[in-house]
Amino acid sequence: MALMLDKLKMADKTGLLIGGNWRSSDGSLAVLDPATEAELAEVATASRADAIAAVDAAEAASEQWAATAPRERAEILRRSYELMRENEEALAELVVMEHGKSYSDAIGEVRYGAEFYRWFSEEAVRIAGEVRTAPNGDKTILTLVRPVGICMLITPWNFPVAMATRKIGPALAAGCTTILKPASDTPLSALAVAHLMEEAGVPPGVVNVISARGSSGVVDAVLEDPRVRKLSFTGSTEVGKLLLAKASEQVLRTSMELGGNAPFIVFEDADLDAAIEGAMVAKMRNAGEACTAANRFLVHAAVADQFSTMLTAAMNKLRMGPGMDRNNQVGPMINAKSRDDIADLVAQSLDNGSTALTGGSRPDGPGFFYTPTVLSDVAPDDAILREEIFGPVAPIVSFETEDEAIAMANDTELGLMSYAYTEDMKRGMRVAERLEAGMIALNKGMVSDPAAPFGGLKQSGIGKEGSHEGIMEYLDTKYVGLSW
Ligand code: NAD
Repeated sequence: MALMLDKLKMADKTGLLIGGNWRSSDGSLAVLDPATEAELAEVATASRADAIAAVDAAEAASEQWAATAPRERAEILRRSYELMRENEEALAELVVMEHGKSYSDAIGEVRYGAEFYRWFSEEAVRIAGEVRTAPNGDKTILTLVRPVGICMLITPWNFPVAMATRKIGPALAAGCTTILKPASDTPLSALAVAHLMEEAGVPPGVVNVISARGSSGVVDAVLEDPRVRKLSFTGSTEVGKLLLAKASEQVLRTSMELGGNAPFIVFEDADLDAAIEGAMVAKMRNAGEACTAANRFLVHAAVADQFSTMLTAAMNKLRMGPGMDRNNQVGPMINAKSRDDIADLVAQSLDNGSTALTGGSRPDGPGFFYTPTVLSDVAPDDAILREEIFGPVAPIVSFETEDEAIAMANDTELGLMSYAYTEDMKRGMRVAERLEAGMIALNKGMVSDPAAPFGGLKQSGIGKEGSHEGIMEYLDTKYVGLSW
């Protein structure tokens, strides 16, 4: 059952991966199973000196990796993809154990995560500069691209495999060396991916993994080192802002994938069955612990009651429990704080006049579970509409006009994802143009795809991951003006 965890423990691979060596350290952190609250493993944590050793290792490997033929870099990524797919069940079980998501979400994440290696193995051999004649004809404009250099990659706990591969894939394809700091709640999945990448032939020092708590100063140590040239961060907007300030000291290239507050708009002409199906994916994938999760349901007044009844019925059908039982569809929240924050937001909303059509409570017993919840009659000024819920709670607000729906949808400083359901594609495209979000799902409950540009507008981030744009985040352009 716990194949991958046993493999990591037996091979002594719960340490720091620096320069191809798995090292122990003076510090450690306990990884818990959020479904049982039992300890799964102790993982070594890095000190500032370990962080600098990781930069040394990334630097030592840098020149040779950048000079490695793109085809060879591609083949290593391709083998990594294949090894992830061959081990997908064991990896998915590890994700279930340390994150708590359902098995079907976990296997979905592992396949999605592996796909970044396949996609970027194909991008590695299509890196191109360009040649143009200057408009006034006085020279040729030649652009060359080259890897940005050593990259610091920081990932959150909610997709512990996919957020790592979405960064490592394009970085390696571009010819960069990397230092990954996984989230302290979920370091095991990243260690397992790194272990498989060793088997795939990644040279020592190209992928280094240093687990650490966010507050430990380890990230600062790396970002202060002038040899590091890039920061790619996925996590909260709050921490993203701190790291942007830190990155400014060395004027680093930055890619920031930050928080979301996605509206899910249902127009009066929507196919309601399809909208409910989409809503359940947009809200309940990962039990709501996704930056792309539908955070606010904006439903036209003419269909609000019907939509609320149908969504409540669908939520009531879900089976909640530990993900290791493959029949369970809703797992626990990542930790007690996360579960308590959700409970507080719901309690505030109920105090503010909303009604719980289902849920609104936390069950007893071990595990950080929160019951799937639908809230109706939510006041427009309710905190639950402004904060990222990050849990299985669906607040519903009604609207009367398209303009009102757009204004409500855009009334947030975040702009990652928006959903809209309508049978009128003229309206759909008009709305898509007006929504202030980096990604729009039109009559779809999920649009994430390694071949598509993932990223937010406004305070949801800077840059894109996936697609061709994803590799450009790890390449610098140089310009040569010439005549011959
Ligand atoms: P978080 O910001 O608390 O932590 C993210 C990472 O940063 C972790 O590895 C953490 O250890 C590290 N960190 C925390 N404080 C730090 C500090 N002071 N210095 C250096 N590193 C620090 O986020 P989280 O709780 O792990 O993840 C949830 C958040 O991530 C949500 O806001 C969610 O929307 C966002 N997210 C965004 C995307 C996206 O692609 N836009 C994807 C997934 C999650």
